[in-house]
Amino acid sequence: MAEPKFHPETIAIRTQTQRTQEMEHSTPLFLTSSFVYHSAEEMAAAFADDSLDINIYSRFSNPTVDEFVKKIALLEGAENGIATATGMAAIFATFMTFLQKGDHIVSASAVFGSTHTLLTKYLPKWGIESSYFDMTRPETLEQQIKPNTRMLYLETPSNPGLDIIDIEWVSQICKARNILFVVDNCFATPAVQQPIKFGADIVLHSATKFIDGQGRVLGGVVVGPKELMYQMYLFVRNSGPALSPFNAWILSKSLETLHLRMEKHADNALKLAKHLLGHPKLNWVKYPFLESHPQYTTAKKQMRNGGGLVTFEVKGGLEAGSKFLNALQMLSVTNNLGDSRTIASHPASTTHSKLSPEEKAAVGITDGLIRISVGLEHVEDIAVDIVQALEHL
Ligand SMILES: *Cc1c(COP(=O)(O)O)cnc(C)c1O
Repeated sequence: MAEPKFHPETIAIRTQTQRTQEMEHSTPLFLTSSFVYHSAEEMAAAFADDSLDINIYSRFSNPTVDEFVKKIALLEGAENGIATATGMAAIFATFMTFLQKGDHIVSASAVFGSTHTLLTKYLPKWGIESSYFDMTRPETLEQQIKPNTRMLYLETPSNPGLDIIDIEWVSQICKARNILFVVDNCFATPAVQQPIKFGADIVLHSATKFIDGQGRVLGGVVVGPKELMYQMYLFVRNSGPALSPFNAWILSKSLETLHLRMEKHADNALKLAKHLLGHPKLNWVKYPFLESHPQYTTAKKQMRNGGGLVTFEVKGGLEAGSKFLNALQMLSVTNNLGDSRTIASHPASTTHSKLSPEEKAAVGITDGLIRISVGLEHVEDIAVDIVQALEHL
């Protein structure tokens, strides 16, 4: 079993549930809904104490799921964690566990679409209100805090604007006011950024993205201090968004290559961003590790590399954006991200088409914005396809 003293690459490979008596080398998959007991007394003990380390039922715990959670917790520098069926289930469970009627949450305005929907359409039904701040104007954050603010929630880098905020600076504001600081670390992954090291309390992920890394399964995970994770465990155990052991097995195997993959995603992304800089059909190119990024210094401080996403704005707005997607020959046109295959999306005509111009501006989306999730193909092939598509505009 891996120890925290190992390097992250080793932890991601050597953290493993105990071998079965078959002595399999790869990690076993415990595809079972329940577990049997040696005796009636053991079963009685398992049900009498919620904190006992006995597997009862896979909605509560499962060794394959636990292996995945343990790896992520170690990689993020957290004490413990809990896995969920999807990223949204992780976010919803975090809200439900730590917020109650009368509480207030301050969120970045540029957060994942369904997260925004939970905050604006569902939490108010239970008497939980939220306020928003613009990640590009961090000085406006403190104005949103109220006496009943319990949680501060954000993504850095944000989607799709790739805005970055100083995690350490936000954590100091939260600590001074006893506010729980939650970071969605989906775009970076622990291979690139560890928000807990900079003072975040809770880190969560859609494991569907770079953690799986090959566009196969859905999953989510939340990590943080032991006591808080125990509260989450009780909520998840009773409300039921458990991660399938099969998906956990895929995700745990994926973690074995996370560091290698993230390095390559970032290497390809930086090369692509530099290649596209100054292209006559583009207004701008954005990538955290380009010196022209407005929060370049903060990105350098808290990220090991710039991650796998690049955005740019095509000249010609909405129409040019659609034309660009239609002209692509190799890149996939889909809304997912964090895949070995390079993906192009045009938020203004697709995922965010129902938003008003003001709402689009608030989440950092312009009509010509294209988001590229840079994959693991040879970077020259990626660049050639993008450049030939731009020639059609
Ligand atoms: C995809 C995504 C989610 C939601 O995750 P699912 O696994 O699709 O439920 C949450 N946050 C971010 C930043 C995402 O990209």
